[in-house]
Amino acid sequence: MTAFWTTPDFDEHERVELVHDCASGLTAIVAIHSSHLGPGAGGTRFWHYPDPAMAMRDALRLSRGMSYKNAMAGLPMGGGKAVILANAARDKTPAMMAAFGDAIEALRGAYVTAEDVGMSEADMAAIAARTSYVTGLPAAGAGGKGGDPGPHTSRGVFLGVKEAVRVGLGKDSLAGVHVAVQGTGSVGGGLARHLAAEGARLTLADVDEARAAKLAAELGGVAVPADAIMDTECDVFSPCALGAILDDEGIERLRAPVVAGGANNQLARAEHGDILAGRGVLYAPDYVINAGGIIAVTHEYLARRDGTVLDIGKTHAAVDAIRGRLARIWETARAEGSAPSRVADAMAQRLIGRG
Ligand code: NAD
Repeated sequence: MTAFWTTPDFDEHERVELVHDCASGLTAIVAIHSSHLGPGAGGTRFWHYPDPAMAMRDALRLSRGMSYKNAMAGLPMGGGKAVILANAARDKTPAMMAAFGDAIEALRGAYVTAEDVGMSEADMAAIAARTSYVTGLPAAGAGGKGGDPGPHTSRGVFLGVKEAVRVGLGKDSLAGVHVAVQGTGSVGGGLARHLAAEGARLTLADVDEARAAKLAAELGGVAVPADAIMDTECDVFSPCALGAILDDEGIERLRAPVVAGGANNQLARAEHGDILAGRGVLYAPDYVINAGGIIAVTHEYLARRDGTVLDIGKTHAAVDAIRGRLARIWETARAEGSAPSRVADAMAQRLIGRG
């Protein structure tokens, strides 16, 4: 058996905690990749993994992604991620959320959690009853301040798509630009609304076909089956659902000169960034374009921690900066003749003291 700390996914994590609470049935992993810039910060994913090794792999990959994302966004936070191994619909209980809050408290601030797949604002509030090392709280959502990270992520991705269209297609307007959006949930749905408002032509898909169809009808777009979206001939393919969709097969199927979307870990392996670049596809590194949500919840967390008033204008300005950051990555990639994903990785590694 291969020890997981010798696998590439481990990538010199500083700390990996296994948590089990007999009374509530909680089983969780908390992975902290780097605390070079601050406490490990990243959401908690509640997922029914078919096997624990997959949960470990997910925690490690997502945690490293958070190190890179927080560093590139200029946040004073390191990278961390938690996964709870259970079925959210069947197993989630108040006792389990309380036990998870206690486990985070026991880390004494080494890890700050937030919402991810399978978790809600209400769960964040339940965790906050046991620890202060949590953000994305419903109370902070009043007046549009903090709370749900999704709208901030959508807005950042939208700005990234605009910049990709400018750099990749030479167009300053989205009018008539055809964008295929995979996943019409919080991020993809919000993105589609922004795009429609600027006249983009939309093709939408979701495994929940009714969801995609309803949004397409509302926005004047077209809905296609989930397994057809990657074959759509379009200007921009925007992955806003699953990770690892840009693998050998996925790239082969792509019919778009630009890939810019909100999903985490879009490249199955680092080499797939090179393959995209080799084919002349402009790729927006996922952890750069989708940082809007973590920017917003981190600003919320820091304001609460420091007892200051959250300045939503500053949060918006920090999300706006995603656009210029992508432009610089693409410019460097062009000058160096390397893939944007490699350029972003190298920048992030330097920022966390590992370059
Ligand atoms: P969500 O659960 O609100 O929406 C995801 C949608 O994708 C759902 O409607 C789901 O039915 C659909 N979906 C799942 N598998 C699919 C498939 N194979 N094809 C088409 N659709 C599929 O989640 P979200 O918050 O919108 O997050 C979407 C992605 O963005 C995830 O990868 C997440 O990790 C990433 N992300 C989210 C945020 C945020 O602020 N919410 C921040 C950064 C990154």
